[in-house]
Amino acid sequence: MNWVTRDQKSIWHPFTPLKGVDDPLCVEKAEGVYLHTTSGKKIIDAVSSWWVNLHGHSHPKISSAIANQAATLEHVIFAGFTHKPAIQLAENLLSILPSNQNKVFYSDNGSTSVEVALKMAFQYWYNKGSEKNRVIAIDGAYHGDTFGSMSVGERSDFTRPFFKQLFDVDFIDFPTKDNEEIVFKQFKEYIVSGDVASFIFEPIVQGASGMRIYRPEFLDKLIKYAQDRQIVCIADEVMTGFGRTGKNFASDHIENKPDIMCLSKGLTGGAMALGATSCTREIVSAFDSPELIKTFLHGHSFTANPIACAAANASFELLLTEECQDNIKRITDQHVNFKNSHIDIPIVKEIRTIGTILAIEFKTDQDSSYFSEMRNRLYPFFIERNVLLRPLGNLIYIIPPYIITNDELSKVYGAIEDFLIEP
Ligand SMILES: *Cc1c(COP(=O)(O)O)cnc(C)c1O
Repeated sequence: MNWVTRDQKSIWHPFTPLKGVDDPLCVEKAEGVYLHTTSGKKIIDAVSSWWVNLHGHSHPKISSAIANQAATLEHVIFAGFTHKPAIQLAENLLSILPSNQNKVFYSDNGSTSVEVALKMAFQYWYNKGSEKNRVIAIDGAYHGDTFGSMSVGERSDFTRPFFKQLFDVDFIDFPTKDNEEIVFKQFKEYIVSGDVASFIFEPIVQGASGMRIYRPEFLDKLIKYAQDRQIVCIADEVMTGFGRTGKNFASDHIENKPDIMCLSKGLTGGAMALGATSCTREIVSAFDSPELIKTFLHGHSFTANPIACAAANASFELLLTEECQDNIKRITDQHVNFKNSHIDIPIVKEIRTIGTILAIEFKTDQDSSYFSEMRNRLYPFFIERNVLLRPLGNLIYIIPPYIITNDELSKVYGAIEDFLIEP
């Protein structure tokens, strides 16, 4: 039996129908921006394998950090014990996070980093003796696939079977240049109710809803208003963290810093599963007690896995190199050039870019079957050209590993141009 047949007999893939889809491609190795399949294809990973990869696949520095750590201390319970990779990583993160961040709590993916943030915010109020039960989020939000993170995310076909199990959340409209006043009014009205524990947001750019960008100045205004009323502001930087928006964190584009921050995806350079939630001294202070009742009673078997932390430390060092920072600027400039040289294309509704992210939204007649029809054409169109772009409905986006060369970027742009000319 070949590998794909064996896969289909025993494996259930994420976000993938069990019938009516193309066979998965079997990847044998990956190096730099390239995925090598068993059938001999060499595909440019222009989406960083779901936005996680920063420095290219199988980066020698990250790989050897993993190998060394695996041979020294592969894992240890993280209650009552600690280890150097976790301590080093917390110090590394706090050295580049906004200066109000004070402690790091580890988990193992983006969704759990959000669960931790929400639970911290609820228990912060509980410990202070004034229980608050509501959360404000932004329309179109995506914060993960566990129940808490689904609850604070957009209600859509993705979560429809679970609507009854999701807790109620107050959603403000997605801020655009035309509706900011209305959105601010909605925000104030929710807050006036007095029961709001936290406000959670993807800072400046919403990923899964289509790389939708909103004004940092407006986010600043929301955070300021909320923080003046002691509402805990949670920045979900799972996608935006580690240079994606051109700065280390999207929160670096704003003045008023979040109280809690969620990190994952690029945290390990995309090599290992790891989540981290950081918070301010003020949040910590509500838990600063020997009483079990005030303790944050949350943890995962693999909390702060040493191998994942070692990978994250290696990725952190790579991120801060001049070479990597220059690459981020170079990709940012290339994206802007692409945007500026592709205005007024009939099938394009909008081209958006921020930092290393470029999104191209196509016009549709809003018919959902057309959506899926478009997706079904887009994905294979690019795979045939050896470029991995995973469309989100009627849009495609590039979010590449930072080591991608201008030549490789040109190949990706070229494939997109082929589609723009002859869709
Ligand atoms: C991907 C993502 C998550 C969920 O992370 P997982 O590791 O897939 O659970 C949460 N928030 C944002 C903004 C994301 O992009």
